[in-house]
Amino acid sequence: MISEKLEKIFNEQIDKEFYSSNLYLSMAIWAETSGYNGTSKWFYAQADEERMHMLKFIEYLNDRGGKAIVPAIKQPPHEFKDLKTVFYQVLEHEMFISKSINDIVALTIEEKDFSTHSWIQFFVTEQIQEEKSVNEIIDSLKLIGEQNVYMFDRDIMNFRDE
Ligand code: MG
Repeated sequence: MISEKLEKIFNEQIDKEFYSSNLYLSMAIWAETSGYNGTSKWFYAQADEERMHMLKFIEYLNDRGGKAIVPAIKQPPHEFKDLKTVFYQVLEHEMFISKSINDIVALTIEEKDFSTHSWIQFFVTEQIQEEKSVNEIIDSLKLIGEQNVYMFDRDIMNFRDE
C-alpha cells in the first residue's frame, strides 16, 4: 500500500507528465504550421511518450492501492519564437521534470517505500536520456546556424533513442 504522501506526489507527477504531453503537442503544432515537418514529428513522438509516462504513473499508483486523479487541463503556450528558443524551453522544462522525479526519489526514502524507490529508477534514467538528447539537439542547432535549418529539420528524428 502506497503512503498518502506518495499518493499525493504521484498525482502531482501525473499532472506534470500530462502537461509535458500537451506542451510538446503545442510545440508540434507550432513546428508543423511553421514548415518544420521533421521537428513536428519529433514533438508529436515526444507528446506520445509523455502520455505513456503519465499512464505508467497512473497504473502504478492504482496497483499500489492509491487512486490516480485526471488533472485539469492547463493551457500550454502556443506561440514560439524560433527553433533554438523552443529547444531551450524544452531543456528547461525537462530539467524541471528531473528535479520533480528527484523529489519523488527522496520521498520514497523518507517513507521507506523501497518498492516505489526501485520502480521510480526507470524515470531517473529516462530523465538523463531526455536531457542528453535535447542537449544534443541544441548543440547541433548552434553548429549549423540559420542557413541549414532545413537539414536539421530533415535529420532531427535521428536524435530519438528508440
Ligand atoms: Mg516524462
